[in-house]
Amino acid sequence: MFRVMNIAFLGLGAIGRPMAARVAAAKMPLAVWNRTAERAASFARETGARHAATPADAARNADVVITCLSTSKDVAALLGGTDGLMAGLKRGAVLVDCTSGDPATSRRIAAQLAEHGVDFIDAPVSGGTIGAEKGTLTVMVGGDAAVLERVRPVLQTFGQKVVHCGDVGAGDAVKAVNNAFLAIHVMATAEGLAALVKAGVEPAVALDVINASSGRSNTSMNLFPERVLTRTFPKTFRLALLEKDIGIAAELARQQRVPAPILQLTADLFRVARGELGETADHVEAVKLVEAWAGVEIA
Ligand code: NDP
Repeated sequence: MFRVMNIAFLGLGAIGRPMAARVAAAKMPLAVWNRTAERAASFARETGARHAATPADAARNADVVITCLSTSKDVAALLGGTDGLMAGLKRGAVLVDCTSGDPATSRRIAAQLAEHGVDFIDAPVSGGTIGAEKGTLTVMVGGDAAVLERVRPVLQTFGQKVVHCGDVGAGDAVKAVNNAFLAIHVMATAEGLAALVKAGVEPAVALDVINASSGRSNTSMNLFPERVLTRTFPKTFRLALLEKDIGIAAELARQQRVPAPILQLTADLFRVARGELGETADHVEAVKLVEAWAGVEIA
Protein backbone atom coordinates (compact mmCIF):
# COMPACT_ATOMS: atom_id res chain seq x y z
CA MET A 1 0.00 0.00 0.00
CA PHE A 2 1.28 3.50 -0.80
CA ARG A 3 2.28 5.39 2.32
CA VAL A 4 2.78 9.15 2.32
CA MET A 5 6.46 9.91 2.90
CA ASN A 6 7.73 13.07 4.55
CA ILE A 7 10.60 14.52 2.57
CA ALA A 8 13.37 16.96 3.48
CA PHE A 9 15.51 18.60 0.78
CA LEU A 10 18.78 20.34 1.62
CA GLY A 11 20.70 22.34 -0.98
CA LEU A 12 18.64 24.55 -3.28
CA GLY A 13 21.39 25.43 -5.77
CA ALA A 14 21.21 25.51 -9.57
CA ILE A 15 20.04 21.90 -9.82
CA GLY A 16 18.77 21.26 -6.28
CA ARG A 17 16.10 23.94 -6.53
CA PRO A 18 14.29 22.57 -9.62
CA MET A 19 14.61 19.02 -8.23
CA ALA A 20 12.99 20.09 -4.96
CA ALA A 21 10.30 21.89 -6.97
CA ARG A 22 9.43 18.55 -8.62
CA VAL A 23 9.05 16.94 -5.18
CA ALA A 24 6.81 19.81 -4.06
CA ALA A 25 4.75 19.58 -7.27
CA ALA A 26 4.16 15.87 -6.56
CA LYS A 27 2.37 16.98 -3.36
CA MET A 28 4.79 15.16 -1.09
CA PRO A 29 5.06 16.85 2.34
CA LEU A 30 8.33 18.76 2.05
CA ALA A 31 10.71 20.65 4.35
CA VAL A 32 13.62 22.57 2.83
CA TRP A 33 16.89 23.95 4.17
CA ASN A 34 19.62 25.94 2.43
CA ARG A 35 22.82 27.44 3.86
CA THR A 36 21.89 30.83 2.40
CA ALA A 37 18.52 31.01 4.14
CA GLU A 38 16.87 33.44 1.73
CA ARG A 39 16.95 30.82 -1.04
CA ALA A 40 14.98 28.40 1.12
CA ALA A 41 12.63 31.17 2.26
CA SER A 42 11.74 32.18 -1.31
CA PHE A 43 11.33 28.52 -2.32
CA ALA A 44 8.98 27.98 0.63
CA ARG A 45 6.95 31.07 -0.30
CA GLU A 46 6.59 29.85 -3.88
CA THR A 47 5.78 26.19 -3.20
CA GLY A 48 4.26 26.01 0.28
CA ALA A 49 7.11 23.83 1.55
CA ARG A 50 8.18 24.25 5.18
CA HIS A 51 11.33 26.36 5.61
CA ALA A 52 13.42 24.54 8.21
CA ALA A 53 15.71 26.56 10.48
CA THR A 54 18.51 23.98 10.62
CA PRO A 55 19.47 20.66 8.99
CA ALA A 56 18.30 18.92 12.19
CA ASP A 57 14.95 20.70 11.97
CA ALA A 58 14.59 19.68 8.30
CA ALA A 59 15.32 16.02 9.10
CA ARG A 60 12.90 15.83 12.02
CA ASN A 61 9.99 13.48 11.06
CA ALA A 62 11.42 13.00 7.57
CA ASP A 63 11.31 9.52 6.06
CA VAL A 64 13.59 10.57 3.22
CA VAL A 65 16.23 13.31 3.43
CA ILE A 66 17.69 14.44 0.10
CA THR A 67 20.95 16.40 -0.05
CA CYS A 68 22.27 18.16 -3.16
CA LEU A 69 25.38 20.12 -2.17
CA SER A 70 28.61 20.88 -4.01
CA THR A 71 30.73 18.03 -2.66
CA SER A 72 30.49 14.93 -0.46
CA LYS A 73 32.63 16.72 2.11
CA ASP A 74 29.98 19.45 2.36
CA VAL A 75 27.42 16.71 3.07
CA ALA A 76 29.65 15.07 5.69
CA ALA A 77 30.06 18.46 7.39
CA LEU A 78 26.28 18.75 7.73
CA LEU A 79 25.90 15.56 9.77
CA GLY A 80 27.26 16.45 13.22
CA GLY A 81 26.53 19.02 15.92
CA THR A 82 23.32 20.03 17.66
CA ASP A 83 21.91 21.55 14.45
CA GLY A 84 23.25 18.76 12.22
CA LEU A 85 21.31 16.15 10.29
CA MET A 86 22.03 13.32 12.73
CA ALA A 87 20.41 15.27 15.55
CA GLY A 88 17.12 15.17 13.61
CA LEU A 89 17.22 11.92 11.62
CA LYS A 90 15.02 9.13 12.98
CA ARG A 91 15.84 5.41 12.85
CA GLY A 92 14.60 3.89 9.60
CA ALA A 93 14.98 7.11 7.64
CA VAL A 94 16.98 7.20 4.39
CA LEU A 95 19.54 9.82 3.38
CA VAL A 96 19.58 10.13 -0.40
CA ASP A 97 22.64 12.12 -1.49
CA CYS A 98 22.13 13.60 -4.95
CA THR A 99 25.44 15.46 -4.79
CA SER A 100 27.92 14.37 -7.47
CA GLY A 101 30.08 12.99 -4.71
CA ASP A 102 33.20 10.95 -4.17
CA PRO A 103 32.86 7.24 -3.37
CA ALA A 104 35.21 7.18 -0.35
CA THR A 105 33.40 9.98 1.49
CA SER A 106 30.02 8.45 0.63
CA ARG A 107 31.14 5.14 2.16
CA ARG A 108 32.24 6.98 5.32
CA ILE A 109 28.89 8.80 5.56
CA ALA A 110 27.00 5.52 5.05
CA ALA A 111 28.96 3.83 7.87
CA GLN A 112 28.37 6.77 10.22
CA LEU A 113 24.63 6.79 9.53
CA ALA A 114 24.33 2.99 9.82
CA GLU A 115 25.38 3.29 13.47
CA HIS A 116 22.22 5.35 14.01
CA GLY A 117 19.92 3.02 12.06
CA VAL A 118 19.75 5.38 9.06
CA ASP A 119 20.20 4.07 5.51
CA PHE A 120 22.24 5.89 2.87
CA ILE A 121 22.32 5.81 -0.92
CA ASP A 122 24.39 7.96 -3.24
CA ALA A 123 22.13 9.10 -6.07
CA PRO A 124 23.83 11.67 -8.29
CA VAL A 125 21.92 12.93 -11.29
CA SER A 126 22.57 13.86 -14.90
CA GLY A 127 20.51 15.87 -17.36
CA GLY A 128 21.17 19.46 -16.33
CA THR A 129 18.95 22.12 -14.86
CA ILE A 130 16.46 21.80 -17.73
CA GLY A 131 16.21 18.04 -17.15
CA ALA A 132 15.55 18.77 -13.48
CA GLU A 133 12.76 21.21 -14.37
CA LYS A 134 11.17 18.66 -16.71
CA GLY A 135 11.68 15.69 -14.38
CA THR A 136 13.75 13.83 -16.97
CA LEU A 137 17.00 13.36 -15.04
CA THR A 138 18.99 10.15 -15.01
CA VAL A 139 19.65 9.02 -11.43
CA MET A 140 22.56 6.64 -10.75
CA VAL A 141 22.33 4.91 -7.41
CA GLY A 142 24.85 3.21 -5.13
CA GLY A 143 23.69 1.30 -2.06
CA ASP A 144 21.25 -1.39 -0.98
CA ALA A 145 18.80 -2.19 -3.82
CA ALA A 146 15.96 -2.66 -1.30
CA VAL A 147 16.55 0.84 0.09
CA LEU A 148 16.41 2.22 -3.45
CA GLU A 149 13.01 0.56 -3.97
CA ARG A 150 11.70 2.27 -0.81
CA VAL A 151 12.63 5.73 -2.11
CA ARG A 152 12.12 5.14 -5.83
CA PRO A 153 8.76 7.04 -5.93
CA VAL A 154 10.56 10.12 -4.59
CA LEU A 155 13.42 9.83 -7.11
CA GLN A 156 10.88 9.44 -9.90
CA THR A 157 9.50 12.91 -9.23
CA PHE A 158 12.66 14.31 -10.88
CA GLY A 159 14.20 11.23 -12.50
CA GLN A 160 13.03 9.46 -15.62
CA LYS A 161 15.72 6.77 -15.56
CA VAL A 162 16.71 5.49 -12.13
CA VAL A 163 19.45 2.85 -12.22
CA HIS A 164 20.98 0.77 -9.43
CA CYS A 165 24.74 0.75 -10.16
CA GLY A 166 26.12 -1.24 -7.21
CA ASP A 167 27.19 -0.71 -3.59
CA VAL A 168 27.51 2.68 -1.88
CA GLY A 169 29.84 4.84 -3.99
CA ALA A 170 28.97 3.16 -7.30
CA GLY A 171 26.57 5.98 -8.27
CA ASP A 172 29.28 8.55 -7.55
CA ALA A 173 31.82 6.58 -9.59
CA VAL A 174 29.55 6.31 -12.65
CA LYS A 175 28.66 9.99 -12.42
CA ALA A 176 32.31 11.04 -12.22
CA VAL A 177 33.19 9.02 -15.32
CA ASN A 178 30.17 10.39 -17.20
CA ASN A 179 31.25 13.93 -16.38
CA ALA A 180 34.85 13.17 -17.28
CA PHE A 181 33.54 12.37 -20.78
CA LEU A 182 31.72 15.71 -20.79
CA ALA A 183 34.91 17.57 -19.82
CA ILE A 184 36.95 15.71 -22.46
CA HIS A 185 34.32 16.43 -25.12
CA VAL A 186 34.26 20.16 -24.29
CA MET A 187 38.05 20.44 -24.60
CA ALA A 188 38.38 18.20 -27.67
CA THR A 189 35.51 19.91 -29.51
CA ALA A 190 37.00 23.33 -28.74
CA GLU A 191 40.43 22.27 -30.03
CA GLY A 192 39.05 20.74 -33.23
CA LEU A 193 36.72 23.62 -34.04
CA ALA A 194 39.38 26.26 -33.29
CA ALA A 195 41.62 24.55 -35.85
CA LEU A 196 38.78 24.36 -38.40
CA VAL A 197 37.86 28.03 -37.94
CA LYS A 198 41.51 29.04 -38.45
CA ALA A 199 41.53 26.86 -41.58
CA GLY A 200 38.58 28.90 -42.91
CA VAL A 201 35.64 26.57 -42.19
CA GLU A 202 32.45 28.06 -40.73
CA PRO A 203 31.92 26.43 -37.29
CA ALA A 204 28.19 26.01 -37.95
CA VAL A 205 28.99 24.12 -41.15
CA ALA A 206 31.56 21.95 -39.38
CA LEU A 207 29.07 21.12 -36.60
CA ASP A 208 26.35 20.35 -39.17
CA VAL A 209 28.63 17.72 -40.67
CA ILE A 210 30.02 16.36 -37.39
CA ASN A 211 26.56 16.08 -35.87
CA ALA A 212 25.54 13.78 -38.74
CA SER A 213 28.79 11.82 -38.36
CA SER A 214 30.64 9.55 -35.95
CA GLY A 215 32.42 12.29 -33.97
CA ARG A 216 29.23 13.77 -32.54
CA SER A 217 28.44 14.10 -28.84
CA ASN A 218 26.01 15.98 -26.62
CA THR A 219 28.68 18.67 -26.54
CA SER A 220 28.76 19.04 -30.34
CA MET A 221 25.02 18.55 -30.79
CA ASN A 222 23.75 20.84 -28.05
CA LEU A 223 26.35 22.76 -26.06
CA PHE A 224 28.32 24.27 -28.96
CA PRO A 225 25.36 25.28 -31.19
CA GLU A 226 23.35 26.70 -28.29
CA ARG A 227 26.03 28.23 -26.10
CA VAL A 228 29.34 28.74 -27.92
CA LEU A 229 28.33 29.82 -31.43
CA THR A 230 25.72 32.15 -29.91
CA ARG A 231 28.32 33.45 -27.36
CA THR A 232 25.65 33.22 -24.64
CA PHE A 233 27.48 30.86 -22.23
CA PRO A 234 24.52 30.60 -19.80
CA LYS A 235 25.43 29.70 -16.23
CA THR A 236 23.82 26.31 -15.57
CA PHE A 237 26.65 24.13 -14.22
CA ARG A 238 29.73 25.63 -12.65
CA LEU A 239 33.11 24.80 -14.17
CA ALA A 240 34.42 24.38 -10.60
CA LEU A 241 31.99 21.47 -10.12
CA LEU A 242 33.04 19.79 -13.38
CA GLU A 243 36.69 20.18 -12.30
CA LYS A 244 35.70 18.40 -9.06
CA ASP A 245 34.01 15.60 -11.04
CA ILE A 246 36.87 14.87 -13.43
CA GLY A 247 39.22 14.96 -10.44
CA ILE A 248 37.13 12.19 -8.83
CA ALA A 249 37.27 10.17 -12.07
CA ALA A 250 41.05 10.62 -12.35
CA GLU A 251 41.45 9.48 -8.74
CA LEU A 252 39.23 6.45 -9.41
CA ALA A 253 41.45 5.45 -12.35
CA ARG A 254 44.58 5.85 -10.19
CA GLN A 255 43.09 3.77 -7.37
CA GLN A 256 42.12 1.01 -9.81
CA ARG A 257 45.59 1.19 -11.42
CA VAL A 258 44.12 1.95 -14.84
CA PRO A 259 46.51 3.98 -17.01
CA ALA A 260 44.32 6.93 -17.99
CA PRO A 261 46.47 9.68 -19.52
CA ILE A 262 43.51 11.39 -21.23
CA LEU A 263 41.56 11.59 -17.97
CA GLN A 264 44.54 12.84 -15.98
CA LEU A 265 45.48 15.45 -18.59
CA THR A 266 41.92 16.77 -18.89
CA ALA A 267 41.65 16.91 -15.09
CA ASP A 268 44.78 19.08 -15.08
CA LEU A 269 43.40 21.27 -17.90
CA PHE A 270 40.21 21.84 -15.92
CA ARG A 271 42.26 22.71 -12.83
CA VAL A 272 43.99 25.39 -14.95
CA ALA A 273 40.62 26.55 -16.33
CA ARG A 274 39.16 26.82 -12.82
CA GLY A 275 42.15 28.93 -11.75
CA GLU A 276 41.88 31.16 -14.81
CA LEU A 277 38.11 31.55 -15.04
CA GLY A 278 37.11 31.42 -11.36
CA GLU A 279 34.45 29.80 -9.19
CA THR A 280 31.37 31.22 -10.90
CA ALA A 281 32.26 30.48 -14.56
CA ASP A 282 30.08 27.96 -16.41
CA HIS A 283 31.69 24.69 -17.52
CA VAL A 284 31.32 25.53 -21.23
CA GLU A 285 33.45 28.64 -20.69
CA ALA A 286 36.49 26.30 -20.67
CA VAL A 287 36.22 26.78 -24.44
CA LYS A 288 37.41 30.38 -23.95
CA LEU A 289 40.76 29.08 -22.74
CA VAL A 290 41.33 27.12 -25.95
CA GLU A 291 40.18 30.15 -27.96
CA ALA A 292 42.70 32.37 -26.15
CA TRP A 293 45.51 29.88 -26.77
CA ALA A 294 44.54 29.59 -30.44
CA GLY A 295 43.87 33.30 -30.94
CA VAL A 296 40.50 32.62 -32.54
CA GLU A 297 36.82 32.76 -31.58
CA ILE A 298 34.56 29.79 -32.43
CA ALA A 299 31.71 31.86 -33.80
P1 NDP B 1 25.40 25.27 -6.92
O1 NDP B 1 26.77 25.78 -6.76
O2 NDP B 1 24.43 26.02 -7.74
O3 NDP B 1 24.72 25.07 -5.47
C1 NDP B 1 25.41 24.41 -4.43
C2 NDP B 1 24.45 24.17 -3.29
O4 NDP B 1 25.18 23.55 -2.21
C3 NDP B 1 23.87 25.47 -2.72
O5 NDP B 1 22.59 25.20 -2.18
C4 NDP B 1 24.88 25.79 -1.60
O6 NDP B 1 24.35 26.62 -0.60
C5 NDP B 1 25.12 24.40 -1.06
N1 NDP B 1 26.37 24.25 -0.32
C6 NDP B 1 27.63 24.27 -0.84
N2 NDP B 1 28.53 24.08 0.14
C7 NDP B 1 27.83 23.93 1.29
C8 NDP B 1 28.20 23.71 2.64
N3 NDP B 1 29.48 23.58 3.01
N4 NDP B 1 27.21 23.61 3.57
C9 NDP B 1 25.92 23.74 3.21
N5 NDP B 1 25.50 23.96 1.94
C10 NDP B 1 26.45 24.05 1.00
O7 NDP B 1 25.56 23.77 -7.42
P2 NDP B 1 24.53 22.87 -8.27
O8 NDP B 1 23.18 22.97 -7.70
O9 NDP B 1 24.74 23.12 -9.71
O10 NDP B 1 25.16 21.42 -7.99
C11 NDP B 1 24.87 20.66 -6.81
C12 NDP B 1 25.45 19.26 -7.04
O11 NDP B 1 24.81 18.67 -8.18
C13 NDP B 1 26.96 19.27 -7.34
O12 NDP B 1 27.58 18.14 -6.77
C14 NDP B 1 27.00 19.21 -8.87
O13 NDP B 1 28.22 18.66 -9.32
C15 NDP B 1 25.78 18.35 -9.17
N6 NDP B 1 25.17 18.51 -10.51
C16 NDP B 1 24.88 19.76 -11.05
C17 NDP B 1 24.30 19.86 -12.30
C18 NDP B 1 23.95 21.17 -12.94
O14 NDP B 1 23.57 21.18 -14.14
N7 NDP B 1 24.03 22.32 -12.25
C19 NDP B 1 24.00 18.66 -13.10
C20 NDP B 1 24.24 17.42 -12.41
C21 NDP B 1 24.84 17.36 -11.18
P3 NDP B 1 24.34 28.24 -0.80
O15 NDP B 1 23.07 28.54 -1.55
O16 NDP B 1 24.36 28.77 0.58
O17 NDP B 1 25.59 28.60 -1.58
